[in-house]
Amino acid sequence: MGCILMDNVILDLKDNLFKNIYRVREDGVLVFKTFIDGQWIDSGDYLEVHSPIDGSLIALVSKPSLELVHKTIDKMYSKGRWAVRDTPGDRRLDLLEKLADLLSHHRDDIVEALVIDSGKTYSQARGEVNASIERLRKAKMDLRRLMGEYIPGDWSQLTLESEGIVRKEPYGIVLAITPFNYPLFDTANKFTYSFVAGNAVLLKPSSLDPIPVILFVKLLEEAGFPKEAFALLTIKGSEMREILPDRRIGAISFTGSTETGLEVMRTGGIKKYVLELGGGDPAIVLSDTDIEHAAGNVAVGITSYAGQRCDAIKLILVEKPVYEDFKANLIEELGKYKVGDPRCPAYSVGPLISKHAVDNAMKAIEDAVNKGGKKVYGGKRLGETYMEPTLIEFTDKNELLKTKLFVDEVFAPVALILPIENIDEAIGIVNKRRYGLDAAIFGKDINKIRKLIRFLEVGAIYINEYPRHGIGYYPFGGRKDSGIGREGIGYSIEEVTAWKTIVYSYRGRGVWRYLL
Ligand code: NAP
Repeated sequence: MGCILMDNVILDLKDNLFKNIYRVREDGVLVFKTFIDGQWIDSGDYLEVHSPIDGSLIALVSKPSLELVHKTIDKMYSKGRWAVRDTPGDRRLDLLEKLADLLSHHRDDIVEALVIDSGKTYSQARGEVNASIERLRKAKMDLRRLMGEYIPGDWSQLTLESEGIVRKEPYGIVLAITPFNYPLFDTANKFTYSFVAGNAVLLKPSSLDPIPVILFVKLLEEAGFPKEAFALLTIKGSEMREILPDRRIGAISFTGSTETGLEVMRTGGIKKYVLELGGGDPAIVLSDTDIEHAAGNVAVGITSYAGQRCDAIKLILVEKPVYEDFKANLIEELGKYKVGDPRCPAYSVGPLISKHAVDNAMKAIEDAVNKGGKKVYGGKRLGETYMEPTLIEFTDKNELLKTKLFVDEVFAPVALILPIENIDEAIGIVNKRRYGLDAAIFGKDINKIRKLIRFLEVGAIYINEYPRHGIGYYPFGGRKDSGIGREGIGYSIEEVTAWKTIVYSYRGRGVWRYLL
């Protein structure tokens, strides 16, 4: 693949601010402390962290004992949640602003961690840091959703001479569980909306790439957030079954696969949940579309972060009159994406997160070919963790519906393409998927677009651009197996606050003089 910069990838951090949360072993491996019970600790028991670039061990991360996690939740429940709630709202905003400034100032090591630990290109890593900064600064836009309602009592004889106020209050402790693909942004986003609404936050990052989150937590400490109000659970997902049922955790904000989300909900029991789950989006290309524009957008939607995005395009349905033309353009566009070491500017598609992820994608491609699919672009493995962007063509809809690539979410740069007769056929196919995150429509016919908007069972529709949740400026969230609830500036407040009704009775006090 060329442009391999060194034999063994190491994580080389330079910023003095982070120096006291890790030590460097002789072989260059960083040994990180974790932040629990209000302090940084080295537990002597570690998670191993490997770089997807070449599989090298890059870090060991301290795992807190479950006993210490329970002690931390005790303190968070008795002190931490009140430390947040008793911090006036405008001071909470100041803290988030300060955090944004710190993230901006100390970005270099975090960008490096996103490249080495998550396998992003430098441009993608910088984009994630910028998005996180912007999300923190947009906390002021969440505020308008922190409000309540006044209900007059005189619309029923039973409630005459009373009135009600329904207001929102924080749940207390929010558990934020995040996936590997946007470790920094998902953490910053969940922390922002939970904290601005007055909650303490337990952060559980993915074990695959926890380093960006560890660095973010150092910035939380530096910004001056109350120490009992946040903690880092650097433990394996499987160990979370001991934590999830804790009744003191009022809400769980989870982003990850559908299978894990279901397990989290089953284990956690009755609580408030926001679940941002699996996806993989369809793109519908209408016959009057601007072919070059659509093909360029779809190619980005397939390849961006090597297809490891919940909103990546995985299924392309094209109206027959433009099918061949669109397919040729898309193949040409895909040819522009070169796969290789993400540290090299020549490559725009880096590795998948693990060897297992490529194994899984290769099996799914084989399965599609066995069911009659034709590889019209890519399809090859390029190393343990690398693969070509891949396009698989079907002409028989019924066979396509049986493929693993249609039935499941395959987190890789692979998409299916199928010619369709009309939009009714597209609606039928899209709604047969168990996922319903987003859809993209490319074309001009407003009547067809309007009909698709009405019938597609998805959480968001992007017209003439590929789906991208970005900073949640527009709210996103799935239907069906893609989840429950919405993330988005303002909208997420609903997920981390509980309604509380207060009824004031003035019966017989002469406040009202109703004409009965
Ligand atoms: P994952 O394997 O489901 O893991 C997600 C998180 O859950 C990780 O922190 C993981 O920790 C933790 N976890 C695993 N088992 C758990 C358990 N039993 N209880 C509690 N937590 C547990 O997902 P992923 O592979 O990291 O992320 C990719 C998935 O996220 C895709 O399906 C993608 O579509 C989805 N996603 C959805 C959205 C959206 O907006 N809908 C956005 C981004 C990603 P460990 O790493 O320690 O196992």
